Amino acid sequence: MDNSVLGCSRGTPSRGKLPGDSTDISTLGRREKAFDIPDSCPFTIQEIPSNDNTSSNAWLIREHDQYGEFPHIYAKICSSKTREPGTQELRVILLSDTGCGTEVSNTKFSSDTAASCGVEIEDGFIIVRREHEVWNIRTFLEYTINPGGKIPYLVIATHCHYDHILGIRKLLPTAGDAPSPQEAKKTAPTTILASAKGQQFVTPYETLQRHSLCSEIGIQAPRYEVTQWAHDFYPVVYKYPKSSDLGPPYDHILTTPYAIIHTLGHTPDSLSWYDADLRLLCVGDLFYLKQSEHTESAPWGPEAPKPTMFNLDSDFAQWWGALGKVLGFVREKNKDKEFGDEIPKKAGIEGMGNEEFNAPASVKSRVKLTASHTTLGIDAETAVLEMQEFAAAVLRDDVPNVQVADGPRGEQRCLWDFSLGTDDASEEEIVSRLANAEWRFSILAPIKIVEDGRRRINKAEWGAARRQ
Ligand SMILES: [Zn+2]
Repeated sequence: MDNSVLGCSRGTPSRGKLPGDSTDISTLGRREKAFDIPDSCPFTIQEIPSNDNTSSNAWLIREHDQYGEFPHIYAKICSSKTREPGTQELRVILLSDTGCGTEVSNTKFSSDTAASCGVEIEDGFIIVRREHEVWNIRTFLEYTINPGGKIPYLVIATHCHYDHILGIRKLLPTAGDAPSPQEAKKTAPTTILASAKGQQFVTPYETLQRHSLCSEIGIQAPRYEVTQWAHDFYPVVYKYPKSSDLGPPYDHILTTPYAIIHTLGHTPDSLSWYDADLRLLCVGDLFYLKQSEHTESAPWGPEAPKPTMFNLDSDFAQWWGALGKVLGFVREKNKDKEFGDEIPKKAGIEGMGNEEFNAPASVKSRVKLTASHTTLGIDAETAVLEMQEFAAAVLRDDVPNVQVADGPRGEQRCLWDFSLGTDDASEEEIVSRLANAEWRFSILAPIKIVEDGRRRINKAEWGAARRQ
């Protein structure tokens, strides 16, 4: 949702690093240069660092979209670990969300550049990375990590808001405008995973149209079918679709290091995923930093601070519960560091039957947290504790707040942010204060959603300031 409620731009703030943050942008394996991304491209890509300095095969893609969302799209190439001689390696790209469906023409494109750009040798085969006439999420992936579009996509929808699903249109021939039927035959199939808990929230199509907020911005939601309804703590496995001519026999199943965790509250279909290899937890829109190195150093200029958003479909009490659930999960995982192999038995979380999911990673670093906006690789436990503390202060009415423009359904909304101060500041002063990076979180929500939270969440959990 558009968060530029005060219609503001901002200067570049100074920012302080807090204890527990170990990610430094200079250590991230930036791949823009490696991929030679032209200026006309509305996406950036960088490899997510692994814990042991090997290639993670995982990337963060950031999108410069027309709605000011700057969504994060995560892509991870998973492949079958063992490969019999003469058999085809099974691979899939787990794509966490698909962004806003941005498409712009590639001003650098000509048939000459298309023919001459990136040639790579992989497994003895020559792979040509070619530019397309337009940049969208599909052509960008084909230009970077999926030359020729040969690897199928499994899209994990962290939830159905438009800034997470509009790119599906570009990946699924039946969902909208691209690719062409001829091209579709040559590219691998796309399948979609969503939360089983949110099935009623995203089907049938009219419901998706409303809950995706596509109606509010006057566009049509993409049409797609969810092929996997993921239950809580579901280990993500990929089954090559039977219908595809390109893949191996359909009964080939690929186990991935991902597990799904239901984290309701922002929406009823919100989910998080945990990558056991990278020890990385993605919380979708559950919460994120107001701003980060990535938002401040974006090639399209600094992005406006982004509050954690709620709307009338949100449930603050469920959201509060999801924070606690995530904290418990992260703390169990962080114990791996101290107790190693004993942890899976101790965890005792129902439904975690997947060996890879339960197995402690070979390098037992603390769990990092990443989100669908602004945030990559911060210390998960610290971040959740800090957000809990901030939300508790909001519930206690201890956080300065300002009423902002009404929501699309006429609901009154407030922005809670410590940097607002308590004096009567001018709008200009407020705008400049909001860019203050001393405070890492802010919340923008309908007032009634927060009031409902005050009624339903046990006051013992938020009534007094505390540090856990
Ligand atoms: Zn959202």
